[in-house]
Amino acid sequence: VYILAIETSCDETAAAVIKNGNEIVSNVVASQIESHKRFGGVVPEIASRHHVEQITLVLEEAMQQAELTYKDLSAIAVTEGPGLVGALLIGVNAAKALAFAHGIPLIGVHHIAGHIYANQLITELKFPLLSLVVSGGHTELVYMEEHGSFEVIGETLDDAAGEAYDKVARTLNMPYPGGPHIDRLAHEGEPVLNLPRAWLEEGSYHFSFSGLKSAVINTLHNAKQKGEVIEAKDLAASFQQSVVEVLVEKTYRAANEYKVHQVLLAGGVAANKGLRTALTARFKEMPDTELVIPPLYLCTDNAAMIGAAGHMLFQKGRRGSMSMNANPGLELDNADCGPRS
Ligand code: ATP
Ligand code: MG
Ligand code: FE
Repeated sequence: VYILAIETSCDETAAAVIKNGNEIVSNVVASQIESHKRFGGVVPEIASRHHVEQITLVLEEAMQQAELTYKDLSAIAVTEGPGLVGALLIGVNAAKALAFAHGIPLIGVHHIAGHIYANQLITELKFPLLSLVVSGGHTELVYMEEHGSFEVIGETLDDAAGEAYDKVARTLNMPYPGGPHIDRLAHEGEPVLNLPRAWLEEGSYHFSFSGLKSAVINTLHNAKQKGEVIEAKDLAASFQQSVVEVLVEKTYRAANEYKVHQVLLAGGVAANKGLRTALTARFKEMPDTELVIPPLYLCTDNAAMIGAAGHMLFQKGRRGSMSMNANPGLELDNADCGPRS
């Protein structure tokens, strides 16, 4: 079963062909980061324009690399939401046009289901499982009893982890997206500053990063006023330690409570070296639970992950219709996999 997948929810125009839900046949990503950098973040209008310019090329490239024609495809999967509405629309319309022209089923995929299913491209999923989703717009713990069943047991009450990274990076005058820069800098510094950790109430699996972000800004501001020097690398190391400690401990506790067989890391912040190292170390203490950490190119936005999730939905009978629309606020619901039009 070959599925062509399309992802345009934010600032990556991506297309991929996936075989049987777990094999990457082709995977093309056109990033727009250079165009957004000078604005310090993603500008929606610019994103839409780039998607329009890139989508046909990226689709042709994905099909060419796969050495397939449209009649070889079983379905076309596309990110339906959440994301920027104008950006999503480019992908959804391209998918609808191709599905209609070639008479192929259309499948709408939730972007975060895609991030989670990126893990299916490297290993077989074993249920029940827990996924720590850390990205530019989301930070959540998702419990899965079986394929297609998503139960959000904790989520951020304010900023997402990636958002906090990007804001702190901007405070330190680093280019967008700041996550990778802070990560690099953190490894050169020492976590000597005492920054808060938002554990929230006892037993809570929710997260909060806005207080930490403010603490970083205040620490810099106070030091400046007192004429003290704080090294950016030490600030980065301290910030990263605070984020990673909370993410790792809550994930560990949830994995223990829910007795899962697997823990999957997912989303752009999953590329963070400090997080990968700390999770690996912590889960050594839970040898019966398999920790799965995707390679970097499957952490940040790509279409291969949408194809992996799309395949699962295809098997479950999900079929979209020509009335499918981009849905910027799409929820990751439980057992969200039946037919939807
Ligand atoms: P969402 O998936 O929630 O819709 P998104 O698609 O914009 O949001 P992703 O592409 O999954 O987000 O991830 C991008 C985020 O990952 C950015 O905030 C970026 O700074 C962060 N990121 C990437 N690499 C690293 C890293 N090494 N350390 C920390 N953060 C990182
Ligand atoms: Mg992106
Ligand atoms: Fe994403």
